[in-house]
Amino acid sequence: MSKKSLVAKDLHKIYRRGHKEVRAVNGIDFEIKSGSSVLIVGPSGAGKSTLLHMLGALDKPTSGKILLEDTDIYKLPDRDRAMMRNQRIGFVFQFYHLLSEFTALENVMMPALMNSGSLRIAKHIIRKRATDVLRSVGLENRMDHLPSRLSGGESQRVAIARAIMNEPQLLLCDEPTGNLDSNNSESIYEILFSLKEKNGMTIVIVSHDEKLVPRVDSTIRLKDGKLA
Ligand code: ADP
Repeated sequence: MSKKSLVAKDLHKIYRRGHKEVRAVNGIDFEIKSGSSVLIVGPSGAGKSTLLHMLGALDKPTSGKILLEDTDIYKLPDRDRAMMRNQRIGFVFQFYHLLSEFTALENVMMPALMNSGSLRIAKHIIRKRATDVLRSVGLENRMDHLPSRLSGGESQRVAIARAIMNEPQLLLCDEPTGNLDSNNSESIYEILFSLKEKNGMTIVIVSHDEKLVPRVDSTIRLKDGKLA
């Protein structure tokens, strides 16, 4: 049987706004195979981001569970879940979220520096790996630039480099090209899909872009918090 990297079981997320309940995710089950690419599509408000945040150990479901390689992630103590998120999950967001005071290289080093105490990794090794990762996304000439001196496409490539710095098994992308033109979008998708091939990581992409459907291994369609 093929290995299941990510399993959602009867997943619910209910937000409360005053007296009103919003059922953002309303009973979802699926299994994602390890090393596959998955697209989550659906209209605005369908629950895509809420689902992605729950998959990424960022937001606790109201009920149901998520298993990452057989670990029930919301059963872990908060500290262990945070460590698991840092070591095993990478995130790419629409608006990059780079730290403006730090260079591209320093931004990419950050997730590994946060780990380095527990893993006893020397800073020069982290710097070398960050340099290699930035080179792999074509940014060898931008390492010392602050985010304000990078284009949108370059910023997203730095964000991808940062996301894969700790060699996660799961890469979650929330509208990764939502702020980019079509040329830059294409190069971001080329990088993401080649990472999947080269590193064998599972990639989950939330997007409005139906053109991605033929390029991924499977598609999850959401509507009103349910599988459509
Ligand atoms: P999508 O990503 O598909 O656009 P979201 O997951 O952002 O959908 O939102 C799903 C529903 O949950 C929407 O009705 C949205 O308004 C609501 N929602 C999302 N986040 C919150 C929140 N923090 N508090 C209250 N309602 C929320």
